[in-house]
Amino acid sequence: MEYITKNAEETKDLGRKIATDIVNFASGEGAVVIALIGDLGAGKTTFTQGFAEGLGIKKRLVSPTFIIVRRYELDGENFTNFYHSDVYRFDGNEKREMANLGMDDLMSDPENIVLIEWADKVKEHLPKQTKFIYFKNMDEDTRKVTYEG
Ligand code: ADP
Ligand code: MG
Repeated sequence: MEYITKNAEETKDLGRKIATDIVNFASGEGAVVIALIGDLGAGKTTFTQGFAEGLGIKKRLVSPTFIIVRRYELDGENFTNFYHSDVYRFDGNEKREMANLGMDDLMSDPENIVLIEWADKVKEHLPKQTKFIYFKNMDEDTRKVTYEG
């Protein structure tokens, strides 16, 4: 599905909506893995703020760029943890860096929801149930978001 958003709030709203859909229709095979792909400023973190709100997270979402992955506790029935990861700083040995972070374990645990920004960098290391969401800058305030729901 393709969405056009006209400002940051609309992109957050989309994040909230997709989070709600995912929590209600999760398959239970490994973690729910959401891969965000798009250029700098395309709205990935903005979307993730809405997504976290949709999961019921009250804490402010801080960009995980420097620590690469950040954990938030969930108190819903189906999931225990939300992991927000940003692999922008990965450079070269993605396989080892994913292993160092313990991403394989995180992504195979059905109690987890794992969202990864700049996921194109680690595409080959993502599980088969991964859902991809693409972000494109159309103009200053317009973004195209494509979701293979
Ligand atoms: P990314 O994580 O992809 O680098 P961010 O979400 O951090 O991008 O930044 C997006 C920037 O673009 C923010 O400053 C936001 O306010 C602005 N913006 C303008 N229009 C939109 C829109 N339609 N959707 C998302 N962000 C938008
Ligand atoms: Mg970002």
